[in-house]
Amino acid sequence: MRWNPFATIVETVDTSPKVSDEVKQTTCYMCACRCGINVHLRDGRIRYIEGNRAHPVNKGVLCAKGSAGIMNHYSPARLSTPLRRVGPRGSGQFEAISWDDALATAVDWLGRIRRTDPRKLAFFTGRDQSQALTGWWAQQFGTPNYAAHGGFCSVNMAAAGLYTLGGSFWEFGEPDWERTRYLMMFGVAEDHDSNPIKIGLGKLKGRPADARAKFVSVNPIRTGYSAIADEWIGIRPGTDGLFVFALIHELLRADRIDLDFLVRYTNAPWLVVQDAGSARDGLIARDADGHPLCWDRRADAVANALLPDVVPALAGDVTLPDGRRAVPVLQLLAQRYLDARYSPDAVASATGVPASTIRRIAAELAHAAFEQPVTVEVPWTDWAGRHHDRFVGRAVSMHAMRGISAHSNGFHTCRAIHLLQMLLGSIDCPGGWRYKPPFPRNVPPALRPAGRSDQIAPGQPLAGLPIGFPLAPEDLLIEADGTPSRIDKAYSWEAPIAAHGLMHMVIANAHKGDPYPIDTLFLFMANMSWNSAMNTAGTMAMLTDQDPATGEYKIPHIIYSDAYSSEMVAYADLILPDTTYLERHDCISLLDRPICDADGAADAIRQPVVKPDRDVRPFQDVLIDLGARLGLPGFVNADGAPKYPSFYPDYLVHHERRPGIGMLAGWRGKSGEREIVGEPNPDQLARYVAHGCFWRHELPEHERYFRHANRDYLRWAAHVGFVARVEQIVLQLYCEPLQRFRLAAQGHGPAQPPDHLRARVEAQFDPLPIWYTPLEEAAVDAEEFPLHALTQRPMAMYHSWGSQNAWLRQIHGRNKLHMHRKTAERLELADDDWAWVISHHARIKVQVKLMDGVNEDTVWTWNAIGKRKGTWALATDAPESENGFLLNHVISELLPPRADGHRWANSDPITGQAAWYDLRVRVEKAAPEEAGETYPAFATLPPLPNLKLRPSILRYGAAFRGRAE
Ligand code: SF4
Repeated sequence: MRWNPFATIVETVDTSPKVSDEVKQTTCYMCACRCGINVHLRDGRIRYIEGNRAHPVNKGVLCAKGSAGIMNHYSPARLSTPLRRVGPRGSGQFEAISWDDALATAVDWLGRIRRTDPRKLAFFTGRDQSQALTGWWAQQFGTPNYAAHGGFCSVNMAAAGLYTLGGSFWEFGEPDWERTRYLMMFGVAEDHDSNPIKIGLGKLKGRPADARAKFVSVNPIRTGYSAIADEWIGIRPGTDGLFVFALIHELLRADRIDLDFLVRYTNAPWLVVQDAGSARDGLIARDADGHPLCWDRRADAVANALLPDVVPALAGDVTLPDGRRAVPVLQLLAQRYLDARYSPDAVASATGVPASTIRRIAAELAHAAFEQPVTVEVPWTDWAGRHHDRFVGRAVSMHAMRGISAHSNGFHTCRAIHLLQMLLGSIDCPGGWRYKPPFPRNVPPALRPAGRSDQIAPGQPLAGLPIGFPLAPEDLLIEADGTPSRIDKAYSWEAPIAAHGLMHMVIANAHKGDPYPIDTLFLFMANMSWNSAMNTAGTMAMLTDQDPATGEYKIPHIIYSDAYSSEMVAYADLILPDTTYLERHDCISLLDRPICDADGAADAIRQPVVKPDRDVRPFQDVLIDLGARLGLPGFVNADGAPKYPSFYPDYLVHHERRPGIGMLAGWRGKSGEREIVGEPNPDQLARYVAHGCFWRHELPEHERYFRHANRDYLRWAAHVGFVARVEQIVLQLYCEPLQRFRLAAQGHGPAQPPDHLRARVEAQFDPLPIWYTPLEEAAVDAEEFPLHALTQRPMAMYHSWGSQNAWLRQIHGRNKLHMHRKTAERLELADDDWAWVISHHARIKVQVKLMDGVNEDTVWTWNAIGKRKGTWALATDAPESENGFLLNHVISELLPPRADGHRWANSDPITGQAAWYDLRVRVEKAAPEEAGETYPAFATLPPLPNLKLRPSILRYGAAFRGRAE
């Protein structure tokens, strides 16, 4: 045949070759998003990971991190055996020991504590997903000194939301992606809920022209989501609250608020007592039965504000039956935010957002909310039995995360955003921000923390869970003399609503013995000597500091569980090696942080897809084993035998927190016929595995909106235990519990703050959101430290696990300090110059990179890239340690001393949230001879027993080559 140059060449490319001989489904854990994955196995090894298309979280989408989970699983940095320290603490010298030996050591230390003073155990966990187990374990042990890492991360979002709406941003709510016409994101980088947000943004961007939605991102740094926003507002860090108040000011001024929503669903009409100086001032006026009062315009009298047929006034002075004066919440709110100090012109300079932009955004919000109503043609019934033909919503949605949360004014700023949402009527409505079950919860939250010394006894469980939500000074965990009851001082006057604890203060307080010394620090998955620490050098010193009199370490015992040879390993005495997420069962429970979406309740498991090839055990198994060995109630039967002999899988199936309520909601009941409430089902895990490792209950259409006031939803929610009662959840513009703390600071009641905290509590426990300068910024000289310094989480990495991943570190193997070109010009810095970053606390040396998409007063870098030499099985000249760095080195856990010498924790004064983003620095060009390597550099740690260095050439996949069918 002759060659025909015009013939079409037909090439056969198999785009879906068979790569595996087995596929197992589980849940990704390369970040906290919890996507469903299909893990392809070949000859028992992991070949390929893809997204599970049936999964409610990701619907098949898989991000770079998720597919690179293979490299986390096969990482040479995996710990391989239990270890006991043999050299000085911090030297990194260990010997391999057996599990029997390791567990006997742990039981010896922990048993002694429990028999004498359970408070001497501080048990803190990192980004784990098993807080329903770890918190309960701590309670059974009897220590109040427990928290997960939420105090690091997002307690400001959680507390502000739960005290205001009964739900929160974070991963517990989402925009109505299908219907919203205007989305505002505040301080959101690649974070929790990452794939759902990406999928949602894709939906917004893919809309036809006549249904376009505008996406506005408020963030000092234009990366990630901000890079694809229709409008980026490069705000000055820590000023979002002022920006939001200016929006509120404009909406109030233009009378563009949803009065109907406010009357129906919020405490806007509730009367607030105005009786300056009295113990009732600022509290909600109530009747003899405790019902809030309003002024009923129809009856021309005060009335129970919760009655469905009142016609409440939203303004006006009222004289209460006892003669006191009271005004509605909305009146107080309007008076405050209409003040000229919150006008766009007044806040423009502080926020860096032009007044004209603020006015325009306010007008756009009002237009989207009030000119573009969204209806869902589904009849529903409200809490009072009133029938509605359809759901009518406001097409404005909001989302916020760490850029709000990680400031010392974050609690109030987050509440300010919630106020804005309520004024626009865009809570849980079509087009608005929506709760994900099990939210909304009752407001204020029902659970109080336990942990005062009268709730602790040797050998006994704690009288309640260590984590809860104080509503008044009497709920604080303080002793009779006012001393904090907890080692982290959570729920003391220093951080009264520290609903997730203050993990960043545990080591510093334990080192000082303030409020008391502890015996054992038990940490799980928390790199507390490195990227999870403030003041890294100081933390290492505290962990190794000894009592000169006894030669004993100030923190006598440290037990650490992790899957990897992180920087923290060297500072522990006993290492309990965990598995990777592909080697164990996990539970993403409704009792913890489930995978629900706005239309349905859902939970999930992880199942082991491969067996560990090392002498490691899942941490949850170890915890349950320790519980049984220690004889903790709940972990042993009456005869002392372990209650869960097959450990965590056994516990997942058989543990009941309350009758019928267990860790997993799906396939309950003897034969799997029940959902959420039902007897344990021995076959439950198999049912999950057969269903892609997740369960989901889709809400009927008439239960999907206004769930704070939706009768049928609330009935179901009460039945399954999400809410305590079938009654309307009134959204709280005005947060009365805060006023109770403020009254105490003003001298009322038996529990009052100590004098050195009195003024701070009085100022900051304002029942309406306030803005104040972030505490570090207020404490340092603005001319000496003129720049804000932030970290951002990159798309490709979640935290330090990701930055040791062989594939992902090719994307971010080193990090640089990014700054605006104009700022660099002023500092005479060019791309790749070396510079010193100096805070009030310490200095680091870094390389700089210039860009346009950043606030001019802000420098920033990627999170958790820098590594200490000798860790993570990296070469000692790895770029992560030569050129990578952490801002953590220049962040202090304490603010600079006040005039009286006292140093506050670097935290939000209400919730104790670590104020990572308050950091202020100056940047100075390094001398030429200083270029080349980051500073500080800490001593190289020796390799751990049984750990290999990673190969210089990665040959993963070579074994599979040529075998595709
Ligand atoms: S978003 Fe998170 S959970 Fe989902 S695939 Fe990526 S890393 Fe995994």
